[in-house]
Amino acid sequence: MLNITDGQCGSCSHFGGGIPEEQLVQIRVNHTAQDDVVGGCDLDSNASIHLKVSPIGSCDRYEAA
Ligand code: SF4
Repeated sequence: MLNITDGQCGSCSHFGGGIPEEQLVQIRVNHTAQDDVVGGCDLDSNASIHLKVSPIGSCDRYEAA
């Protein structure tokens, strides 16, 4: 189980492409995710290369969900 802190992808508004809505809500509410979860990032620069990130990833463009 991954524990997600503020500033990490799992709590970012750009995270979650390809993850079912109900599962994404649970990740945001519980601040946890299964170890194998990856999701798309919808920032233009990342979406154009179909970047997939872990919920515990991060970058300077973080925006709280
Ligand atoms: S890569 Fe950056 S912008 Fe994309 S979900 Fe993670 S923190 Fe958010």
